[in-house]
Amino acid sequence: MSDWNPDRHGFETLAIHAGQDPDPTTGAVVVPIYQTSTYVQEEVGQHKGYEYSRSGNPTRTALETCLAALEGGATGLAFASGLAAEDTLLRTVLKPGDHVLVPDDAYGGTYRLFAKVASKWGVEHTPVALGDLSAVQAALRPETKLIWCETPTNPLLGIADIAGLATVAQGAGALLVVDNTFASPYLQQPLALGADVVVHSTTKYLGGHSDVVGGGLVAKDAALGEELRYHQNAMGSVPGAFDSWLVLRGIKTLGVRMDRHCANASRVVELLSRSSAVSQVLYPGLPEHVGHDIASKQMKAYGGMVSFRLAGGEAKALEVCRRTEVFTLGESLGGVESLIEHPGRMTHASVAGSQLEVPADLVRLSVGIESADDLLADLERALA
Ligand SMILES: *Cc1c(COP(=O)(O)O)cnc(C)c1O
Repeated sequence: MSDWNPDRHGFETLAIHAGQDPDPTTGAVVVPIYQTSTYVQEEVGQHKGYEYSRSGNPTRTALETCLAALEGGATGLAFASGLAAEDTLLRTVLKPGDHVLVPDDAYGGTYRLFAKVASKWGVEHTPVALGDLSAVQAALRPETKLIWCETPTNPLLGIADIAGLATVAQGAGALLVVDNTFASPYLQQPLALGADVVVHSTTKYLGGHSDVVGGGLVAKDAALGEELRYHQNAMGSVPGAFDSWLVLRGIKTLGVRMDRHCANASRVVELLSRSSAVSQVLYPGLPEHVGHDIASKQMKAYGGMVSFRLAGGEAKALEVCRRTEVFTLGESLGGVESLIEHPGRMTHASVAGSQLEVPADLVRLSVGIESADDLLADLERALA
């Protein structure tokens, strides 16, 4: 095995090679899809490191090794979905009576996991505006064991100061978890900024082609990594070999895709900022965004997600969603194709009536990597 690691290699090299040495038995350059549930043992207990594919599968191992390298952590783990990764993490590090701070505009599914599932097991949570470190400090309790951070947030694209939160978490004896789905490790490295665990929905930018649902965890520390690995096997929400392979294949082009997502998003932001139909553009790359300075410090670029509000209210927001042609109306994000959606009625319908409710005049774009001119023309037509 070559020693592919962040001290010796650049990000794009790791994305293509870490965990992905040519297959030793056949020479196949691409990691094979090991579509098998079990493995031969020479004698009882004597095997090549694999016994049963819930516990470990070589295609999944390749993905897990690559995830750890990309985030600069000790241990990478792959899951059947982002929420499966989150659930495994919660049940590894929390117990009844513990308390968690969650972003007040957390991903809807994450919020639901705390509000409807973890709460039944006696884990309490408080939504807090993570952009405001004094509010975070004030919301801490003696039982606070975890600070859950998303940055940028979904769908309001708020920015939290990862290094600042890490200091608060350390002071409180709590873990800092960062959902790095929106930025991807290409744009943001939470572990280097002091986070303990990174969470991914690999369904999004890492997979990158809207053809697979998956999740990941990367732990900075090997001891926590092993505890998580134990629970990954004990709880069993692992991805199959083919899904692992699809994510791994997507990761190889993450750098070039993100560059184009960012470039296209900034063209889109320019157009939206000029449009009289738009009352506000939410994008951390804009100098007037409250989190702009922190985003500039902790991100390499500002990402492919753009949200905006319509002067004409919800009716106009729904109309714009109906009228685009290149931007496909659909949930999810991070794929090569551009998507448009209405968070209030789609991705964030589950938080309606809660503290996390989003404005009805809000539209969210996942800016894809098509020709920028086509994206701009499509939006211009839909906004007219
Ligand atoms: C999609 C998403 C999740 C959940 O991931 P799934 O793969 O859908 O289970 C979590 N966090 C963020 C920020 C997401 O966008």
